[in-house]
Amino acid sequence: MQVYADHAATTPLKPEVLEAMMPYLTEQYGNASSMYGLARSAKKALEAAREDVANLLGVDKRGIYFTGSGTESNNTAIKGVLTALSRKGKHVITTAVEHHAIIHTLEHLRKSGHCELTVLPVDEYGAVSPDDLRAALRDDTVLVTIMTANNEIGTIQPIDELGAIARERGVWFHTDAVQAIGHVAPDTQNIDMLTLSAHKFGGPKGVGALYLRPGIIIPPLVDGGGHEGGLRSGTENIAGIVGLAKALSLATDNLAENTKKVSAVSETVKRGLSEIPYSHLTGHPEKRLPGTVSFVFEAVEGESLVLGLDAKGVAASSGSACSSGTLDPSHVLLAIGLPHEVAHGSLRLTFGEENTAEEAEYVVKAVAEVVARAREMSPLWSGGKPTERFWQNM
Ligand code: PLP
Repeated sequence: MQVYADHAATTPLKPEVLEAMMPYLTEQYGNASSMYGLARSAKKALEAAREDVANLLGVDKRGIYFTGSGTESNNTAIKGVLTALSRKGKHVITTAVEHHAIIHTLEHLRKSGHCELTVLPVDEYGAVSPDDLRAALRDDTVLVTIMTANNEIGTIQPIDELGAIARERGVWFHTDAVQAIGHVAPDTQNIDMLTLSAHKFGGPKGVGALYLRPGIIIPPLVDGGGHEGGLRSGTENIAGIVGLAKALSLATDNLAENTKKVSAVSETVKRGLSEIPYSHLTGHPEKRLPGTVSFVFEAVEGESLVLGLDAKGVAASSGSACSSGTLDPSHVLLAIGLPHEVAHGSLRLTFGEENTAEEAEYVVKAVAEVVARAREMSPLWSGGKPTERFWQNM
């Protein structure tokens, strides 16, 4: 059996989305900035997509800017705010569990002297404390950027409350909602800026959007012909943008039904994996993305689990990243307090609406076998238990 259980990495393009995109990849190839009929239909599709996305998010369409990715939207927001508000200050608040598209951008800016950074800690479930945010705000804080939902452990942050705290102090609040949009209902009331990415909810890769509350003016990351209200120059990817809007519309229309389906699969897998000895669910037990099942297994390497599962036809992922010959455990798992030794044994399974109950059963069996096999070969495992316990909470 082949099971795709890595929807947090990317999702399959929905057939209806491809169908909506096709005309703009073929006969409707006009450049939206030109003046003849072919161009006008491209422009019309672009503006219709903008309106649809705005309505689906419950925001003003004048605030929707299409970009080339979630990463680009995050960079545009952060660098744009630091430039626009440079007279006010350069203090930015973020969290220890953000995606690299936020963390690396801010670290780079901090090292080059362009920002001062406060990184808020998270609790054992990966949640940020509103009190910590309140205490971290300063007179020279120009931006708070906190993700809506975590890409590794699925924890959903109290975004509305965090946004309200920033707003009280007149500080712009950005959220990287790449993992949340299309999977949980958006709550945009207290949000000034929001990032989304089409390929995480059944749309095409290489297209994202940045929402800016009308009134927020920031400079572009890339200068050029002045597309997208001057914020994002470059001839618009009409097919991609139409695909993004269609995918968001499908995801929103079917949200309740999809959540039910995905949750049923996740629950089966969660229950099954909890029965494996010395396994632990990571992330918040309830406030989490419905499709995310994230675990650590003691005395196992996450990489070997991913490879073992691949051999059984299951596409999964681990929080560990193999870089320059060393295995670094995920910053998210370290931030929730896992010791290195335990964080190495992480596995992330992320399900989508096309996963079935049979697949869920198959995945549980496959993981149990792969974990048992890895432990048989592990020097950290002996006599049916780990040779050493590294974590007080276990
Ligand atoms: N932010 C989060 C939370 C993500 O999970 C990802 C992708 O994994 C990104 C940003 C980057 O999005 P994109 O792949 O569109 O650049």
